[in-house]
Amino acid sequence: MKIIDAHFHFCDDAYFDVIARAAGHENNGGHLVEQYRLHGMVHGIVMGNQPLRDLSSDYPSFVSYCVGIDSREGFDRVSIRQQAALLEQHFQNPRCVGLKLYPGYNYFYIYEDCLKPFYELAEKYDKPVAVHMGLTATDNALLKYSHPMVMDEAAVKFRKVNFVMCHFGEPWFEDAAAVIEKNPNVTADLSGILTGKIPDFAAFCQKKHFYMERMKGWLEYLECYDRFMFGTDWPLANLGDYIEFTKAIIPQQYWDAVFYENALRIYRLKLTEKNTVSS
Ligand SMILES: [Zn+2]
Repeated sequence: MKIIDAHFHFCDDAYFDVIARAAGHENNGGHLVEQYRLHGMVHGIVMGNQPLRDLSSDYPSFVSYCVGIDSREGFDRVSIRQQAALLEQHFQNPRCVGLKLYPGYNYFYIYEDCLKPFYELAEKYDKPVAVHMGLTATDNALLKYSHPMVMDEAAVKFRKVNFVMCHFGEPWFEDAAAVIEKNPNVTADLSGILTGKIPDFAAFCQKKHFYMERMKGWLEYLECYDRFMFGTDWPLANLGDYIEFTKAIIPQQYWDAVFYENALRIYRLKLTEKNTVSS
């Protein structure tokens, strides 16, 4: 089975080095390509954490990226026009397959009118807008901005924009499912649920059975496996563990869709020999 990782991070950063080691990995392109080969992973989509003005996108060849408007730069409502001009330059790069927003960390609602220039470009270039939804990694972020219900208003207001709800809004699966069911322009990725390396997978499933059953249950309720994508949030989690975890919550007849085809369609990836890892 071919696999696309529809959500991971690639950042030359000491913090990322530490979390990669905790997940049994090394935070570098050489290790990543070895691991991709080992697990049948052919391509990955980086969720950008680099400054918007960095147009070089110096990523490994087997990677596309969503350009991030990240907390490190600080989101501000004043310079949206200038930011949009940079965003357009990224969108003209074929390796840029979407935009990534981090509202919980940057304190804004994704339906705010001031974001219109971003959404107009997303529509014009037909690039999805991926949004960090659900729990945040730091305690100074605000959950009222990252709750999945917020995406409902954005999806209605900007109907022609395709939104990707990252992390399936975890742990608010019930609310996330309602937003996805109601809005045809919302899809989701299943990344960000695991961290570190799981020593005993069976024991993990036993311990986390409530959470896993809820997640699985809301996926079954929705019955739209063509709108969910596999993603690992590497280097936060171990790749082998994440594949096993996703297989445990997705019925086998939908593995090809969730692990590969949906990402290909939603992010409109054009995969060739040059931008894939061959086993
Ligand atoms: Zn992420």
